[in-house]
Amino acid sequence: MKITPYGNFLIQLTRLGFVNCYLVREDDGFTLIDTGLPGSTRAILAAANSYGLPIVRLVLTHAHSDHVGSLDALHTELPDAEVAITARDARFLSGDHSLDANEPQVQLRGGYPICKTKPTRKLVHGDRIGSLEVIATPGHTPGHAAFLDLRDRTLIAGDAFQVLGGVAVSGTVKPLFPLPALATWHKPTALQSAQTLRALEPSRLAVGHGRVLVEPLAAMDRAIAVLAHELNGQKRHAA
Ligand SMILES: [Zn+2]
Repeated sequence: MKITPYGNFLIQLTRLGFVNCYLVREDDGFTLIDTGLPGSTRAILAAANSYGLPIVRLVLTHAHSDHVGSLDALHTELPDAEVAITARDARFLSGDHSLDANEPQVQLRGGYPICKTKPTRKLVHGDRIGSLEVIATPGHTPGHAAFLDLRDRTLIAGDAFQVLGGVAVSGTVKPLFPLPALATWHKPTALQSAQTLRALEPSRLAVGHGRVLVEPLAAMDRAIAVLAHELNGQKRHAA
């Protein structure tokens, strides 16, 4: 596992070159954001250990398999850690794949594995968890969340954006790494969420797939413009 620190609080953990999770340093230990693919547990624990700090929170951006893959195994090793995910994506962990009446009635995409671990905390927009503010960013999944570190405006955006294969809003197909786009539920909602994240003026953009971007606003603007253009074109075509 590749370990890359950024600033005082963020450590990126990368497995197989394409799946990231993050350790966020807090006064009482680390918050782990996402758990990677199955089989990542040992490497994640070793990374935290190398800093001499315990993992005290397991927080998930969304319920896709490359983000919750090691949740159950980590929870077994860390039974006292808080486990947090949005109330909306928590339903997927228990196998409930229903859509709500007020959601776009389009097919879910990507893998949503059932997990034994029960969240101890269900998050909604505006909640605080440690130094992180919860930002509801639906689109990639119905209950996707991003996390803004209020100490230095580092934004951990999950799959709301991708960087590997080219910076893109979730939903724009990047041929060199198309997986996030192919797993995206509803592109117009993903575009709105990307605009929400851009308006936060993050100092760093840390995503599920790809390196951390420092001073990311211009790259976010370009990515938002690309998806907006694509969706406008579809509207014109349909009219
Ligand atoms: Zn995903």
